[in-house]
Amino acid sequence: MGHIIGIDLGTTNSVCAFMDRTEPRIIINEEGGRVTPSVVGFTKTGERFVGDIAKRQMLINPDATIHSIKRFMGRRYRDARSDLALVNYTITEAANGDCAVAINGRTFSPQEVCAMILQKLRKSAEDFLGETVTEAVITVPAYFTDRQRQATRDAGTIAGLDVLRIINEPTAAALSYVHDRKKASTIAVYDWGGGTFDISLLSVDRDVAEVRATRGNNTLGGADIDRRIVDWLLERFRDEHGIDVSDDKIVMQRLRDSAERAKLELSSAPSTEIHLPFLVSDSSGPKHLQCSLTRATFESLAEPLFQQTLAECRNALEEARLDVGDIDEIIMVGGSSRIPRVQEMVRELFGRPLNKTFNPDEVVAIGAAIQGGILEGEVKAVTLLDVTNFSLGIETQGRRFEPLIPKNTTIPTQKTQLVSTVVDNQRTVKIHVLQGESPDSRENVSLGEFELQNIQPAPRGVPRIQVRFAIDASGIVNVSAEDLRTGISDEITIDAPTGLSKVELERAREEAQVAAEHDESAREIKGLRNMVEKELVTLESFLRENRGLLPKTDIFELEQALKRGRMALLKASDKRNLDALLRYLQRFHQHLREKMESQARMH
Ligand code: AMP
Repeated sequence: MGHIIGIDLGTTNSVCAFMDRTEPRIIINEEGGRVTPSVVGFTKTGERFVGDIAKRQMLINPDATIHSIKRFMGRRYRDARSDLALVNYTITEAANGDCAVAINGRTFSPQEVCAMILQKLRKSAEDFLGETVTEAVITVPAYFTDRQRQATRDAGTIAGLDVLRIINEPTAAALSYVHDRKKASTIAVYDWGGGTFDISLLSVDRDVAEVRATRGNNTLGGADIDRRIVDWLLERFRDEHGIDVSDDKIVMQRLRDSAERAKLELSSAPSTEIHLPFLVSDSSGPKHLQCSLTRATFESLAEPLFQQTLAECRNALEEARLDVGDIDEIIMVGGSSRIPRVQEMVRELFGRPLNKTFNPDEVVAIGAAIQGGILEGEVKAVTLLDVTNFSLGIETQGRRFEPLIPKNTTIPTQKTQLVSTVVDNQRTVKIHVLQGESPDSRENVSLGEFELQNIQPAPRGVPRIQVRFAIDASGIVNVSAEDLRTGISDEITIDAPTGLSKVELERAREEAQVAAEHDESAREIKGLRNMVEKELVTLESFLRENRGLLPKTDIFELEQALKRGRMALLKASDKRNLDALLRYLQRFHQHLREKMESQARMH
C-alpha cells in the first residue's frame, strides 16, 4: 500500500509530510525546498507554474499570479468583497454565487486553483517516495465552515487525491505534540498564518487528544498585517508627492512585497529601510519612496490585529472554562507567530514561556502525516476528539436560526429533526441549513437549501419526515431524510445546491489530469531541449579543441551536424523529434570519440 501523505494547505505556503515507519518526515519538493509557496502563476501562452517559480513572477505579472487563494475557498462572492483588496488578480462571482478567479479570459473556481497546488505537492511526494500517491489527510483552519471544508475536499478530488480526513490545523499541531511527548497536559495552540488565525485549547493524554475549545478568524492573517504597512506607505507617499497610487496594480504589488519583507526583517531587527525607486513618474519626473520603519511604529500599526488574536484566546479560555493558569504548554504555529511582539503578548497573557521546540512552519503537516499514519495503522492510535466550531441549525419562520448541534460538540455527531408539510399533498419541503451563532439566520453562513423531494401525497401535517444532520470526523455536514410513515429513506431525494456539483467536479478533475499530463510533457520537452543544448555545446568545444587533429572531412561533417542541430533545436518542439536529434548527436559524438581513440592508438 502506498503512503498516505499529510498536507498543510496554507494560505501562503504549503507543506507535505509522510510517516517513515513510525517517524514523520517532511517531503522535499522538486526545487529542494521543505515549504512550497501556495502560488500559481499563468503565462500569456497558457503555461502555468506552481510554487517558487510562480512566486518569482508575482512582481512582474501580478494580475496573472494567484496567491492567498485559500481566502476565497468555499466563500460566497458577496461575503468575500472586503478581501478583494488583498490580491491583485481578479475575483469574480461564479454562476452559483461563489468566488471565481478570472485569468487570461478563463475562469477557475478556487477549488481548481487549490488543486493545482495539491497536484504539485502530490507530484513532489511521488518523486520523493518513488511511488504513486493517491491518499491524503489535509488540514484546514479550525474555523473553516462546512462549505470551506467541502471545497478543500473537492480540491483534493480534482487533484486526483482521495482525501481520507480533513483535520483542523491546531489539532494537527497537538497530534505532533502527543506523538513527541506522550505527557498528560492542557495545551494551547496559537496558530497565526498568512490568512487565518486559530486558537485551540486541548487536553492531551498518552493516547487521547481532546479539543476543549477553538476560536478563530478566517480573515485575519499575515496578509492583513502587510496591508497595514501598505496603507502606511501609501499615506507617506501621498504626503510627500501628493499622488495616490492605490489603483496601480504593479505599484501595489511592489508595496505589498516590500511591506512583507519589512515585516519579516522587523522580527529580528529594530528597524528597516524601505526603498522603492521609480515607483511612479509624472510630468515632473520619477518618484521614489524611501523611508525607514521602526519596530515600534510597526507594532503600533499592527497592534489592533495582535489584540484581536488575544481577545480570541480569552474567549477560548472562557468557552473551555479554563483559567490561564491551567495551560501547561503554549505551542506557536504559523509564520505570523514569529513576530516578537506577538510572542511577548501571548507569553504575558498565559504567564508562562512559550514552547519553541516545534517548527511553526512544519508542525501542522507533521500532525497531518501522523493522522495518516493512524489511519494506515502504522502509528498507535491516538483518539482525536475534535469539536465543531460553529452551531449547525436550520432557518425557521421570520428568518430565525434554530441551532440543532451547538458549537463545541465533539465530532462525529448527529441530530434528527422531524418535519412535515403545511399544505395538502405537498410533495417537497425546503430546509435551509446554516452554520453560525447569530439568532438572525441572515447573519450566519448558508450551507444551502436542502430540498426534500418525492414526499408521498398526504393531508398537511400527516407526513412525518425525519431529517438527520450529521457532522463527520472531517467536520463535514451530511443531511439525510427518512419518511417515518413508510420507513423508506431513498424515496426522498435531497437536492443540496452548494459548491461544485458532481458533474462540475468530475469535469474539473478530468481537466486537471489533462493539464498535469500537458505540464509533465512540457517538462520532459524542456529536459530534452536542455540535453540537446548540452550535447551541442560539448560538440562545439570538442571541435574547438581538436580542430588541428581532425581530418578536413570530419571537421566539415561535424560543422554540418552542429548547424543541423542548432537549426533543428530552433524548430523541434515535440518529444519524438527532439529525442531523434539527441540520439543523432550522441551517436555522432561517440563516432568521433572512437575515431580519435583509434588514431591515438595508431600513433
Ligand atoms: P503560514 O501561513 O504559516 O505559512 O505563514 C505565512 C505568514 O507568516 C506570512 O504572512 C508571512 O509574512 C508571515 N511570516 C513568516 N515568517 C515571519 C516572521 N519571521 N515574522 C513575521 N511574519 C512572518
